[in-house]
Amino acid sequence: MDAQTPVADTTAGLMPQSKQVAAGIFALPPLPYAENALEPVISANTVKLHYGKHHKSYVDTLNTLVVGTPFAGMTLEQIITSTAGKAEHAPIFNNAAQAWNHTFYWRSLAPNGARIPPAALKAQIASSFGDLEALKKELGTAATTQFGSGWAWLVLDGVKLKVVKTGNAENPLTAGMKPLLTIDVWEHAYYLDFQNRRPDYVKRLLDELINWEFAADNLIAA
Ligand code: MN
Repeated sequence: MDAQTPVADTTAGLMPQSKQVAAGIFALPPLPYAENALEPVISANTVKLHYGKHHKSYVDTLNTLVVGTPFAGMTLEQIITSTAGKAEHAPIFNNAAQAWNHTFYWRSLAPNGARIPPAALKAQIASSFGDLEALKKELGTAATTQFGSGWAWLVLDGVKLKVVKTGNAENPLTAGMKPLLTIDVWEHAYYLDFQNRRPDYVKRLLDELINWEFAADNLIAA
């Protein structure tokens, strides 16, 4: 292989491009807890792979895709809403949305997650679903019936809380809804710990790890 010619060619355009790289770099946010903090429900090994390989790879791939494009200067949310539904931008959408969704997922969980939502959220849950058990049932059904890879979400849609599910990288932001919490139901989220038993993973998450404080903070910020 003759490496000389390509090196000489790329050097000429290096300066402006590296500026755009610097402006467009998306970072992998630190996990909000230790890799083993979600045990015994989600093993350290699952978190290590899910965060360190899958989540990281979405961020890394996004960074390579946006170099030299107008997307390099946008926030993740701006990229997600401006590329949604556009076939020519599908790879950028998928990686930006997966980068966002995973950061949101890690924060939707907490070691010893609060068993009871804070008062303001609890009141909203009561008016939209009846009670917390009814919401958990609806969220659990959405998470277990999402066919194939995807996500289950608690969202604020207008003035009502709603449960929605999305396929692959899709995110409710593109439908004008405000996500409050999410559950990742891609197989990589649970297969090492639960194999094909997605309903068991979902139930344990809902009973033991959901971070209702995070959902309440998102409701206040909405
Ligand atoms: Mn995932």
